[in-house]
Amino acid sequence: MRADSDWGAPASYIPELARVDPAQFAISVVTADGRLHTAGNAETRFSVQSITKVFTLAIALGRSGDQLWQRVGREPSGLAFNSIIQLEQEQGRPRNPFINAGAIVTTDEVLSGRAPRDALAEIVQFIRTAAGSDDIHINEAVAASETAHGHRNFALAHFLASFDNLKNPPEMTLGTYFHHCALEMTTTQLAMAGRFLMGSPAGPGLLSTARVRRLNALMLTCGHYDGSGDFAYRVGIPGKSGVGGGILAIVPGQASIAVWSPGLNHYGNSLKGTEALAMLASRMNWSIF
Ligand code: GLN
Repeated sequence: MRADSDWGAPASYIPELARVDPAQFAISVVTADGRLHTAGNAETRFSVQSITKVFTLAIALGRSGDQLWQRVGREPSGLAFNSIIQLEQEQGRPRNPFINAGAIVTTDEVLSGRAPRDALAEIVQFIRTAAGSDDIHINEAVAASETAHGHRNFALAHFLASFDNLKNPPEMTLGTYFHHCALEMTTTQLAMAGRFLMGSPAGPGLLSTARVRRLNALMLTCGHYDGSGDFAYRVGIPGKSGVGGGILAIVPGQASIAVWSPGLNHYGNSLKGTEALAMLASRMNWSIF
């Protein structure tokens, strides 16, 4: 991450993201009654990055059910999103599906048995259906930028392969992973896409109630990497961050919220986005506790 400012610094390890002006902010809130509230640059598209890990996990669980948990755990890692340490300690089984190693495994599961193009099409279509918008696309320049600088992720994927925890060639799984991370959305599209996670009848019923609850549990415990405890303490609702500066946060039964501000805190989560969510949750008295 680059030197800090009041806005935080955008991710520096993906050159296409490093160029984004950190002094931007947007928020969109969809409530259970279907109303939409927005402020700031809510029509600006940003790189959703790790937020797609929620959707990929939903698809992987739909394809493989609880068998998926043989390949990836459900515990917070307490380490950075791209850490490799636990992979060696835990015999190639990533701690959870929201750190990079875990999301490489869920992507591999979605990919298995077909071409990357078809797996990507399913991921993009799932998100478009959830959002109720077909105008959601992959930014190829961001995917290429991350591929060219993705040494950590290549290391993680090869490490997984060395423990027989990849079904596809590492390059193929990573190509799919980099491309879904490079999806671009507005905060309004993202808040709309999160409706199904509210678990209320207003959103499109893409998943069973039990599965929605479990996704929320994982978002709360693991959605902000080693900053997950701090986010739960300050904001008090499940959330998933991305290194593009977006956060999708869910008030079960009440609201789906997307915030975006590209400057990050030292965990790699949006600095202003987290502050805004803490303020909003406090003013609205939104908390799962
Ligand atoms: N594509 C990014 C990476 O693999 C996602 C990380 C993130 O958003 N935290 O490094």
